[in-house]
Amino acid sequence: MVAGADVLNLIGGKAVPARSGAWLEKLRPADETVLCRVARSGAEDVDNAVAAAREAQPAWAERTAVARGDVMRELALLLHERREEASAIVVEETGKPEELALGETDAAVEMGLFVAGEGRRSYGRTTTASMPHRTVLTLRQPLGVAALIMSFNTPLPNIAWKAFPSMFCGNASVVKPSEHTPASASFFAQLALEAGVPPGVLDVVHGLGGEAGAPLVAHEHVDLVSFTGSAPTGRAINEAAARRLAKTCLELGGKNALVVCDDADLDRAVTWVVASAFSNAGQRCASASRVVVFDTVYEAFRERLADAASDVEPQPVISRESMERILEAVAGAQVLTGSTRLERPGWFVAPTIVEDVARDSELSRLELFGPVTVLYRVRDLDEAIALVNDSPYGLTAAIHTASVHRAMRFAERAQAGVVVVNAGTHGSEPHMGFGGVKDSGTGWREAGIEALDVYSELKVVNLVVDPERT
Ligand code: NAD
Repeated sequence: MVAGADVLNLIGGKAVPARSGAWLEKLRPADETVLCRVARSGAEDVDNAVAAAREAQPAWAERTAVARGDVMRELALLLHERREEASAIVVEETGKPEELALGETDAAVEMGLFVAGEGRRSYGRTTTASMPHRTVLTLRQPLGVAALIMSFNTPLPNIAWKAFPSMFCGNASVVKPSEHTPASASFFAQLALEAGVPPGVLDVVHGLGGEAGAPLVAHEHVDLVSFTGSAPTGRAINEAAARRLAKTCLELGGKNALVVCDDADLDRAVTWVVASAFSNAGQRCASASRVVVFDTVYEAFRERLADAASDVEPQPVISRESMERILEAVAGAQVLTGSTRLERPGWFVAPTIVEDVARDSELSRLELFGPVTVLYRVRDLDEAIALVNDSPYGLTAAIHTASVHRAMRFAERAQAGVVVVNAGTHGSEPHMGFGGVKDSGTGWREAGIEALDVYSELKVVNLVVDPERT
């Protein structure tokens, strides 16, 4: 278990403190008590980790894809075996309910099993050429060293979504986990060693974004930066990585909208709004932070939604800063329910619904990453679609309607990477490409076989099969 133990870096298979000897203190969101100390790394530690990764990568890449897939399967099975232990760490780090943490651990396992299967299914392409006697085929090759930098919200899936495909593709990876969820990342990396991932193929450097993340992004020997986090950080990372033309995959935030039409099943819509807006304390990139309701059903919907919100099991947000930022953002707004800190230890914000918010206000446009959703009133589907698209973000969008025509019109016109009909604004599973448009990302898709495009280079091979006759 984590409590009281120091969370160390993992470099070349060895658990080590930061070279400077500095530490961060990690508190439990549920009661603000100290959980553990965490290595507070800097550029020197990043250098060591990148060097260890570079050394380990060529031999790892020499193994066949089937062999690398087999190791990924071992890791997934080990995580499955230790799911209770892994989830308990996540519960302590985040304050989320055990059931949610167990579900996330299982999702991380599924990602591993899906990637492992690619070992025997990494299909390429063959094609024709205009020159005679040629066969043209594609090969996937590793990039080298990948920097994997991530958010805290679903810590095990976040690392699994990057580490499994990165390792499978033959890269060595240096992970900079969120400073808020270091212990689960270290647990995952230790399991990887036990499962047979060679030392150095998965290294972990803990610390703050500016101190440990930034030197990793800027490192000359990092060939790929794969980042999941906020749009402002993503923008800074993209600029830094662009200076040396490094490949950069950014999976960023959302201001996801869920539309409730006048022909929707209102009770079902309420259930999905509550799940989409308030589960994980709204700390989901796909959280439904905007709910767009047809005028004729607005009053009935808002009443049922406010009732349902009062039954939500509270979960803390990740930090005091986050709690204060969220409370400040909703202060002075027209509140239907919530907008207060719960009277108990820990960083709990009551599930919050606000209305009558200007469409160009900060509350309408900024991602809060907390249990807050904004209700809007619209006349019809055209106005709803215009409002959904009036956002800097474009990650996910949902519609509740009984009409297949409305559903399809919405699916075609909503500016989002994922569209859901008659359910929540979620929609990521290991075999489905996930990502967004506009400020939600840089166009890559994580998970699915699309993830292989992020973590490998495609090489086209021209094979002259009969040189005598060309
Ligand atoms: P964040 O941007 O503050 O931090 C993310 C990570 O980046 C952390 O590990 C942090 O230490 C690091 N970091 C910060 N500054 C850095 C820098 N200058 N250089 C390198 N690394 C740096 O985000 P957060 O608060 O941890 O996470 C919330 C955000 O993540 C939300 O915007 C959410 O929507 C997004 N998110 C997106 C997805 C997705 O798949 N699109 C999934 C989960 C979360």
